[in-house]
Amino acid sequence: MIWDTHAHLDDLVYKEDFLEVVERMKSAGISRMTNVGYDLPSSERSVKLAQDYDFIYAAIGVHPHNAEEANDDTWERLLELVKKSKVLAWGEIGLDYYRDLSPRLIQKEVFIQQIKLANEVGLPIVIHNRDAHQDVLEIIKTTPPQYGGIFHCYSGSWEMAKVLLNMGFYLSFAGPVTYKNARQTVEVAKQAPLDRILVETDSPYLTPEPRRGKRNEPTYVVEIVHKIAEIRNASFEDIAEQTMRNAKTIFKSN
Ligand SMILES: [Zn+2]
Repeated sequence: MIWDTHAHLDDLVYKEDFLEVVERMKSAGISRMTNVGYDLPSSERSVKLAQDYDFIYAAIGVHPHNAEEANDDTWERLLELVKKSKVLAWGEIGLDYYRDLSPRLIQKEVFIQQIKLANEVGLPIVIHNRDAHQDVLEIIKTTPPQYGGIFHCYSGSWEMAKVLLNMGFYLSFAGPVTYKNARQTVEVAKQAPLDRILVETDSPYLTPEPRRGKRNEPTYVVEIVHKIAEIRNASFEDIAEQTMRNAKTIFKSN
């Protein structure tokens, strides 16, 4: 049993074969999946999926790419969505200085605003951080998430990981940990305490080896579990079980 803690199955690329994707995932033992929103419509779709499928849970929020579109109406409607059942986290939120699709000042404001909202409603946050380590650190220090958080697709150094682990964050690993040039990420996956790591696919993106470059789907989270087991000299079952336990803890789910 594995929990894919971050996927976007509401994406249009699954329109044709959604049910087959779900069937494959269930037969592979992926018993839970968190569908993550990145703007208001995708957050609404995530909640709808969580209502329609017992093994799907939802996270809602505005991604830094979409920060510029967010306004008071967005927050009001997201706060309405939070009241629905199976909304387990606020995200994905954060900073993306790699693509810079929204102005940095607005990205920061929207990130801070959403940490405050998550604190208000009692949810952990899901953080997207790309090339923005210093500013992300500064924000989570000045506006700490009170219900914890996950660094999704963790890609930073072990030095930064130690700081985040000390602050209580969870680190989630995706396809890149299986890539050949992943020395830094492998190092973190090896050193991080076993009770603070999670696995995810970020489907349809970041497909793990050996299918890198093709469309991703939750089934392939087994490749991440395999890789972490190999790195840590542990069994597949141990990593699956422990990451499931960790997901249940951070998402406060039984
Ligand atoms: Zn994502």
